[in-house]
Amino acid sequence: MDKFDGFKFSSKEEQDDIDTVLKRFEEFCMGTTHEAFESYHFHVRVQEPNESIDAYVAELRKLTRVCNFEAFEDRMIRDRILVGCKTDHVREKLLEDPKLDLKKAIDIARAYGASQVKLNEMKELAVDRVMSKDRKKLFPEEKKQFSKYLVGLPKFVIETDHKPLLSLMKAKDLDFLTPRIQRFRMRMLRFTYDIEYVAGKDLVTADSLSRSPLKNNKAEEETVEVSTIFQSIPISDERLEEVRRAQQRDKECREVIQFTQGHWPQRTHGILKLYYAERHCLAVEQDILLHGCRLAIPSSLRQDMLQRIHQGHQGIVKCRALACTCIWWPGMSKGIETLVNNCPECEKHIVLPPQPLVPTPTPDHPWKKVGSDLFEWQGEHYLLVVDYYSRWIEIPHLSSLTSKSVINSFKAIFARMGIPRTVLTDNGT
Ligand SMILES: [Zn+2]
Repeated sequence: MDKFDGFKFSSKEEQDDIDTVLKRFEEFCMGTTHEAFESYHFHVRVQEPNESIDAYVAELRKLTRVCNFEAFEDRMIRDRILVGCKTDHVREKLLEDPKLDLKKAIDIARAYGASQVKLNEMKELAVDRVMSKDRKKLFPEEKKQFSKYLVGLPKFVIETDHKPLLSLMKAKDLDFLTPRIQRFRMRMLRFTYDIEYVAGKDLVTADSLSRSPLKNNKAEEETVEVSTIFQSIPISDERLEEVRRAQQRDKECREVIQFTQGHWPQRTHGILKLYYAERHCLAVEQDILLHGCRLAIPSSLRQDMLQRIHQGHQGIVKCRALACTCIWWPGMSKGIETLVNNCPECEKHIVLPPQPLVPTPTPDHPWKKVGSDLFEWQGEHYLLVVDYYSRWIEIPHLSSLTSKSVINSFKAIFARMGIPRTVLTDNGT
């Protein structure tokens, strides 16, 4: 009661109000908030070595509650992350962004954290592997490890800083892709994903992973898959060897191989321009230049290839389809077209496409316009008359195919239905 007597109240009502009284007792027992003191706690809080960014931000949020930062709360937390984050690499990344807000800062730090966790898991796995001396099994396991995060997701987003990959990953026709991309697409078939372009500097996770790349023994796996591709091309080993040698002799092919294995120059001219336009489909496997899964044919072999493709005189479409299964060169399609168009044998077999059906306008009232024809069914002859407006059908039986019989049938119908303005016939037979 002594304490109660010591409290100051502005009025009698306040003194009688139970909430106000309780508040006074609370203030007396707990002490009032010391804003500067709480603020100090906030500003010295750094991320602990084993603390995730989310846990760190949650702690910071808790501390801000008593700091009265109000509208500046997010900004203060962002700045605190900048200063207090445990990794210099993350700090550098955060400082690179001129429009860094709290959300972005958390995203960047979170992405880096996730990649670190993944790296550590991989390192542990690598240690296990070396200890068990079971080297070959590591990489499939790692792939499974990644996939377990993704399989079954309704959708996820792949971020890449390689723009051409966008069109390659979305391309419908796998045949036109290089073996490497094709292999990647095959592996990705079990996932549902969107692919987006993100500038290299913003690709935090991939960036940190690429700085700690794994030693990979893909070579063996690739050889197996590439030889499967060569097996799928309908060409003998001798012929394949011939193409390889012809490519080596061909100046144009040698240059393209060199560029494909290294980097394409900024500017290309002449025939190289045509290859440049297709550079995302070009690949060199086992010293052979490929366009998707097709062999790139050097000029010296092109005439021979055209003759082989055209051997059956199957016309442009089939010749092209056949060529597209195994060979390619810039302008091949045009070459086939010219060859077939100048071939008298192919011309003989040209089948004209069927004429499209042309709809006739509907007349404005019934029995204005009718169509008519004769037909035979089970040895008997009939006249068919159909109205263009109502589709009403009259089928009188014809006792004979004479004009008299036909005219009499028409007369009988017109007497009942009225006389049409137009009668369309094919002049009978
Ligand atoms: Zn022909």
